[in-house]
Amino acid sequence: VGVFYRPLDKIAAVIETYPKGIAGFRRYQELLATEPDIADAPDAVEAPPLKGEIRFEGVRFGYAKDRPILSHIDLAIRAGETVAFVGPSGAGKTTLLSLLPRFYEVDAGRITVDGIDLRELTLASLRRQIGIVQQDVFLFAGTIRENIAYGRLGASEAEIVEAARRARLDRMIADLPAGLDTVIGERGVKLSGGQKQRLAIARIFLKNPPILILDEATSALDTETEKAIQQSLTELAQGRTTLVIAHRLATIRHADRIVVVTPAGIAEQGRHEDLIRAGGPYQALHEAQTLTWQAAGTAAE
Ligand code: ATP
Repeated sequence: VGVFYRPLDKIAAVIETYPKGIAGFRRYQELLATEPDIADAPDAVEAPPLKGEIRFEGVRFGYAKDRPILSHIDLAIRAGETVAFVGPSGAGKTTLLSLLPRFYEVDAGRITVDGIDLRELTLASLRRQIGIVQQDVFLFAGTIRENIAYGRLGASEAEIVEAARRARLDRMIADLPAGLDTVIGERGVKLSGGQKQRLAIARIFLKNPPILILDEATSALDTETEKAIQQSLTELAQGRTTLVIAHRLATIRHADRIVVVTPAGIAEQGRHEDLIRAGGPYQALHEAQTLTWQAAGTAAE
């Protein structure tokens, strides 16, 4: 929530750098502050429209060179597949997925999309084809229309309205006196956690990327809202390669594949039933989480 309303000059900076795609991930503030030294290769080309087949091949990465967070990561994801990443806190799930939009550069190995090494593509053209939904929705002081249009600058009115409808924001917007022109932010209407999530979803519908990264909320929303949002996210994931940092049983159960990330690397992967049957780390994690959820009185699904 701390990132919600930001001083206008910072916002301008974010919008300005948006074509380079620096904004948008969980740690975008840090990224803004540190200006990562990731740039287009001199011979980088525009990405063609991607199908979203993704491969991690022998990937190694650490924030500090002497302390690898990920090593020997090999993973092949089919176009359109939904893959849930689970594992203990700090195992490197977020880190792994932040390598895909190239917020950080791999130290060894490579990542390909549709067989193309990410480093051969311009950052802007790569990031235009990746949608990111995270817990902290980045909204700026402005109208709802402007905040949705941020998903794809230059979108038409009809496209913005359609994105709002698909994210089920239309009824809320209809109830507001100024509709899409309603100003949100410190001086305007304050949105609820669920409404913010919907706005983020509307942005992605507008952007319509073949690849989706979802960093699921760990808390904050009530069960009803949570369920409704989950439904919208499932719709959003249709026809896209979807990588989820998963905290919810429902997401995990219905994923095409679950990848268990531990500090030692990818421990195992497969479908929910198979991993439960295997009785390995996933089964243990699942049991522990189920117990936690029961104790907290939250609906697991
Ligand atoms: P969680 O489930 O808690 O989100 P995670 O599996 O996503 O955890 P990461 O957030 O990827 O794990 O963190 C992996 C490791 O990298 C942790 O030890 C973390 O402290 C470290 N780390 C994460 N971000 C940075 C950063 N920007 N700079 C340095 N270290 C970082």
